[in-house]
Amino acid sequence: MAARIGVGGIFIECNHFTSQLADRAAFERSERLCGGELLARNTGVLGGMMSVLRANDCEPVPLLYASACPSGVVREEVYDALKNVLLELLNNAVQLDGILLCLHGAGAAINAPDMEGDLTRAIRKRVGDEVPIVSTLDLHAHITPELLAHTDVLLAWETYPHVDAFKTGERGAQAMVDILAGRLKPVMAMAKVPIIVSAIHGRTQQPGPFADVMHEAKRLEDSGTLYSINPILVHPYLNLPDMGGGVLVVANECKTDAVDAAKRLAWRYWENRHELQPETLKPSEAVQRGLQIEGGPVLLIETADCCGGGATGDSVHTLKALLAEAPDQSAIVPVVDPAGARRAHAVGVGQTIQLRLGHRLDPNWGDPVTVDGIVTRLSDGAFTYCGGIWDGRSGCMGPTAVVEVGPIQIVISSNATYDWMTEQFDLLRLDITACKFIVAKNPMNYQQAYTGSMKAAFVLDTPGPTPANTNALAYTGMTADWFPKKTGVTIDEPTVFVSRQRDLTP
Ligand SMILES: [Zn+2]
Repeated sequence: MAARIGVGGIFIECNHFTSQLADRAAFERSERLCGGELLARNTGVLGGMMSVLRANDCEPVPLLYASACPSGVVREEVYDALKNVLLELLNNAVQLDGILLCLHGAGAAINAPDMEGDLTRAIRKRVGDEVPIVSTLDLHAHITPELLAHTDVLLAWETYPHVDAFKTGERGAQAMVDILAGRLKPVMAMAKVPIIVSAIHGRTQQPGPFADVMHEAKRLEDSGTLYSINPILVHPYLNLPDMGGGVLVVANECKTDAVDAAKRLAWRYWENRHELQPETLKPSEAVQRGLQIEGGPVLLIETADCCGGGATGDSVHTLKALLAEAPDQSAIVPVVDPAGARRAHAVGVGQTIQLRLGHRLDPNWGDPVTVDGIVTRLSDGAFTYCGGIWDGRSGCMGPTAVVEVGPIQIVISSNATYDWMTEQFDLLRLDITACKFIVAKNPMNYQQAYTGSMKAAFVLDTPGPTPANTNALAYTGMTADWFPKKTGVTIDEPTVFVSRQRDLTP
C-alpha cells in the first residue's frame, strides 16, 4: 500500500526589531493552501516534495501550508489559528506514515518565540514517536534543541541567493522515502558558534567566508557516509537566547559521526568570522563616491530596511541623501508608504503631489521627508516572482505609484515585498539600466539582480531593523558574548546538540 505522507507547514522569517507584527492579512496576501491547492503546487519546496513523493508511489496528504513575506513577529491569535487548523487536519487525516514540513526556521510568534520548535512539538505529540517528521528549512534558520528534539531530519537550502527551493523539497521528500524504505536511520547534530552577522558576505558561491564552509561541507558529504551536511547562517534579526550559525549534520545511525563533522565544520566557520563583517558607508558618502564613477547604475544598498529580512521598507534615509547630494541624477528608490500610495492614486497620473513620505509604518528608525513631485505611473502592485523561493508565486505590493521628483523616481508601494530579481521595478516598466543610482533594500539578492549591469555597489550604514552591521542592534536575548559584539571573543569549542534516535522501522 502506498505510504501516506502529511505535507504542510508555516513559513515565515521574523524580525524582533521592527514594530510591525505579522497579521492575518500578511498570510492572506501570500498563501494559505489546503487540499487540492496544496497538492497542485509544482514549484518551490512543495513542488519538489510532490514530485519525489509521487515518483516513489507515496500519497501526499494535504495538511495546511501558510506563508508570508518576512516581517515582525506573528500575532498570537494568527499563529494559534494557523497551528490549530494544521493540527486539526492532522487529527482528521487517516493513518499517516510520515510528516513532511516546509518551515523557515526563523519564525517567531508572540506566544511562541521558537515557533518551529513549538509547532513540531505539537505535531510530535499527536503523531507519536513512530512516525518520522522531516522538515526543510532556510539556511537562515535559528536551530534550537527543541526543533531538533521533535524532528528526525532537517535539511536547509544550500544556496544563497536561495535558488534551490525545488531541490530542497526533493531532498526532504527523498529523506522521507529513505526512512520509510529502512535505508536511513537518521540522527542529527547541530554545532553552533556565537556569530550574529548580516548576510552581506553570506553568499555560497566561492570565494567567501561562508562559501568556504559550504564548499567543504559538500566535499565531505560527497566523499563520505554522512547523509546531509548543511551550514547555517542564522537569521541575525531575531532577539533570542543562544543565537548563532553553525553546521547541521544528518548521519545514518552513527551519532558520533554527526557530532564530529558538525563540530569540525562549525569551527571552520568560526575561524572565518572576521571576513563576515561588512564595510559600510554613510549614504551621502556613497552618493559622492557614485558620482565619481562613470555611468550607472550605481547600487546603494540600504540593507537596514530589507523587507526580505522583516523590515517595513519605509526608510527614506538614502532618498534624503539623493535629494540633497544628487538631485539632478536619475535614480530609482523604493519606499513602502500606504498612505502616500493612496494619495497618489487619488490625484492620478500626470498630477503634481506633495507627500510626507517614509518612516510611518515603523517610526523608530527615522523621520519622514517632504517631497514635491509628479505622479507618473499607477499600478495595483501585483507581480509574479521568477525563480528563487517564491518562484511562480504572486507578489503583492498593493496600490503602488511612481512619483517623480526631477529625475528621481520614487516607487511608493502599500505593502512590503521580498526582493528577488527586479520584478517590482519591471512591473512599473522602470528602466534600471538607464539610471545613475538604484536603491536596493536587500543584502544579497541585488548581486544577482544587477549582475552585468551595475557599475558599483555600496553597502550603507543607515538606521533600521536589518542593518549591515549587527552591532547597531541591542540584542537583549543573548546571555554570553558573541561576534561581533565583542570582536575578540573566544570559545573553547562549538556548542553541540543532537536529535533523539527513534525506532522508525516501518
Ligand atoms: Zn534565507
